[in-house]
Amino acid sequence: MEKSCWSINDLSDFSVAGLKQKIHELTRTTPNYKFVWNNWLPRKVGILAWRIELERIPVMTLLAKRNIDVGLISCPACGDMDETVEHLFMSCGVAQLVWQAVSSWCKIPSILALNIHDLLDGYKLTNFPKRKVKMFHAICLGSTWCLWNTRNDKVFNGKPIMVESIVGEIKTLGYLWMKHRSGGTSLLWEDWYRFDV
Ligand SMILES: [Zn+2]
Repeated sequence: MEKSCWSINDLSDFSVAGLKQKIHELTRTTPNYKFVWNNWLPRKVGILAWRIELERIPVMTLLAKRNIDVGLISCPACGDMDETVEHLFMSCGVAQLVWQAVSSWCKIPSILALNIHDLLDGYKLTNFPKRKVKMFHAICLGSTWCLWNTRNDKVFNGKPIMVESIVGEIKTLGYLWMKHRSGGTSLLWEDWYRFDV
């Protein structure tokens, strides 16, 4: 596997954003990356996460690259940066607050995602029992679903983006999905709410 390092010549240009971009470029195309599906989620949720990994969702910068006139290409959530897949799901302040809330809810160290694989594979770093690991994996994929839908609601319906609403939806939808799909019909909301599953 090709090794890479931050060239000393680049130090004058060093910035965290630059480093993240560099890492992103280096890790983005991983031909052997194996996407892990989760059958406790509706198929459409898995398909969205799979498309995010492939950067095949219509964020503003990708639409603009295809010469589709989208007007502003800035992030609909914060307006501070161009909307890329990396920004929308990882570095945007909204996304970071969502991942912080998910980490806190699931009682794990903060999720620090440098690329989409860190999010999709974050479950591998937990030491949860098998069933709980699969639920956590479902939560991470489900979180991308909720972030994307919230973003679309803003873009197409002008609905304001609120972190608390996104986190609430992750918990509520996650509960319904797990209750009906994981064979855990006895799953109680109180336990789910504490992630004591
Ligand atoms: Zn943003």
